[in-house]
Amino acid sequence: MSATTGHGVINAVKNWRNTEKHYMPIDVREMFSSAVFTMDAMRQRLSKPVYRSLLATIERGQTLDATIADTVALAMKEWAMEHGATHYTHWFQPLTGGTAEKHDSFITPNYGGGVIAEFSGKELIQGEPDASSFPSGGLRATFEARGYTAWDPTSPAFIITHSNGATLCIPTAFASWTGDALDNKIPLLRSIDALNKQILRALPLFGITNVTRAVATLGCEQEYFLIDEEFYYRRPDLYLSGRSLFGAKPPRGQELEDNYFGSIPERVLAYMSDVEHQLYALGVPVKTRHNEVAPSQYEIAPIFEHANIAADHQQLTMSVLRNTARKYGMVCLLHEKPFAGVNGSGKHLNWSMSTDTGMNLLEPGNTPNENMVFLFFCAAVIKAVHKHQDLLRISVASAANDHRLGANEAPPAIMSIFLGSQLTDVFTQIQKGTHRKSKSAGIMELGTTVLPNLRRDAGDRNRTSPFAFTGNKFEFRAVGSSQSVSFPAATLNTIVTEAIDELATQLEKALKGKKKLHDAIYSIIKDVMDTHGKVIFNEDGYSDDWQKEAKKRGLLNMKTTMDCIDMLGSKHNKALFSKYAVLNERELLAREEVMYDQYFKTINIEAETTERVAQTILLPASLQYVGELTANAESLDDIGMSSNAITTLLKKVIVLTDELSAALEHLRSMNEELGGEQVHEKAHHMHDNVIPAMYAVRLACDRLERIIPEKYWQLPNYREMLWIK
Ligand code: ADP
Ligand code: MG
Repeated sequence: MSATTGHGVINAVKNWRNTEKHYMPIDVREMFSSAVFTMDAMRQRLSKPVYRSLLATIERGQTLDATIADTVALAMKEWAMEHGATHYTHWFQPLTGGTAEKHDSFITPNYGGGVIAEFSGKELIQGEPDASSFPSGGLRATFEARGYTAWDPTSPAFIITHSNGATLCIPTAFASWTGDALDNKIPLLRSIDALNKQILRALPLFGITNVTRAVATLGCEQEYFLIDEEFYYRRPDLYLSGRSLFGAKPPRGQELEDNYFGSIPERVLAYMSDVEHQLYALGVPVKTRHNEVAPSQYEIAPIFEHANIAADHQQLTMSVLRNTARKYGMVCLLHEKPFAGVNGSGKHLNWSMSTDTGMNLLEPGNTPNENMVFLFFCAAVIKAVHKHQDLLRISVASAANDHRLGANEAPPAIMSIFLGSQLTDVFTQIQKGTHRKSKSAGIMELGTTVLPNLRRDAGDRNRTSPFAFTGNKFEFRAVGSSQSVSFPAATLNTIVTEAIDELATQLEKALKGKKKLHDAIYSIIKDVMDTHGKVIFNEDGYSDDWQKEAKKRGLLNMKTTMDCIDMLGSKHNKALFSKYAVLNERELLAREEVMYDQYFKTINIEAETTERVAQTILLPASLQYVGELTANAESLDDIGMSSNAITTLLKKVIVLTDELSAALEHLRSMNEELGGEQVHEKAHHMHDNVIPAMYAVRLACDRLERIIPEKYWQLPNYREMLWIK
């Protein structure tokens, strides 16, 4: 490695050339869902009664009729084999936050010494992976390793193809043999049921009686980084912990603000299109792609769907993003904060509620002040978010997300709601009893006749709010980029379910007391605003003033994961989740335990990686330079000369190297301790002692990086990773 080719820069630049194929136009309509066992495919392959029975489960949530399983399995297998599948897997979502799969082939030996392809109803409905290697938070002891996967017929099966075959993936739930949820899907499904129930109870109070099913809808915007694999594999911190544990800020970061929505480099665009084509085939309705704020950061977003399917599709999106990058000589980083000093990555969870009659319950229309349905459901969200700030915060807590929420970057850890000026106006006027007309949108002229006049939205946008109303849905922006959306979504569903329940009770009483609907709703809004209105904040969420103001308002500000997870199992949270049958007490406490465990392990891995890299790569680099400078000084001395430049530099390097060495000793001693036996103690030790020790090592290294010749510094730096594409 010479100075000019240091860190594989030249390799990285050459890694990708568009040599392969010429673009063949695709027909999205044909491609879309081509790898999915869709309702259409089912209708074609199943008898009418079987299809109808399945439909009742999928569309109306009726219990699955197990006697049809064999027929469905047969049809599914035939469809899958026609599409090249040789194996099937129960695809599930353990508490790691990712997905898991164990593949079985369709083959069964027959008497003649050959094999036939088989797939039974039982194999479709139920699987039994060994549960002992998945986090369970104490829900099962290792000797009770049994865990079951159960087919989720409401999320369609799909086929994943690789270069030498294809696998039929069947979305499943994952539970312990006692029936406790060991995954992220079960609580999400339960929360959707609970929400459905309360919405169906509330709507008739507004005279709406034709709705038979309501669901939560989700659209998840995903941010990610792409860097050249040449750099990635030269950085043990990146491939072991997913983020750079070292790295001085480069001369150019995102200061010029020229990256957001900037033109997308050819290599990246080719990658994005490849990702999109695969996702189309999987039935994921991806819609938007663009450059994000940081260099080498991008975003992909789908059109919203039923929350359960959207959550499955979100997992597929992450997996396709990761898997496809290598084809283009790149690596996709989904970590919340891969690089210090530039923006981290989040996942914006756009959320609303809709009915099978096509109503969006959070659609304000042109006159929100007269839209009773909207006012009621929007008030429920305001109440829910204020009352359960702790839960929302916890639902996005992780060691990785702490770099965003706790730090000075989008969004702050205080859970407030951005409602926008128009709606805030509507709600405060109702609260004060001074109803005037609501602010209207209006038309905007651009001062030249060739451009069309634009419709102005009634409310502005606000990027700093963790929970923003954006037109006809709420956008929960605190979710981490690598996180499963299922738990945050289940949490949101549950807290809003409770609020709808309570407000519906209030409304029923008022209507029984012969109050008019309009008056009853207005007095409910007043109540909600009086008690919960302080959660609304439309200004700059990044400012120091907000930190103070939020404190005055009594809002929680839990900066780190360690400040909040022990509240997950609190009395009121246990009561909430069990009242709506989303998580029982055991399941809830298990999740708290898993969060501690994941936190501990994440930091532990980071700390050991920091120690190893600093000790074996960076400290030696510094000492090498000390050696070089010393030799130079001695040579000069031999001929009776000296150099200020050399002595000044040498002193500086020695001071910083000593600092590094001391910090490293301290980190080593912190790494040797665990802080206690319990996972809680270990996690707190990580937070209180290991993170600061790790940070001190990084600080010394980052300072050294600025002065040590690049030929000695073996780690690719931020400049190279972020700017060479
Ligand atoms: P932004 O407002 O963040 O600039 P978009 O307007 O493109 O972005 O919408 C972001 C996401 O919100 C998309 O995934 C979109 O499908 C989703 N979305 C729109 N309406 C709803 C809804 N009613 N429920 C859930 N998600 C929705
Ligand atoms: Mg957005």
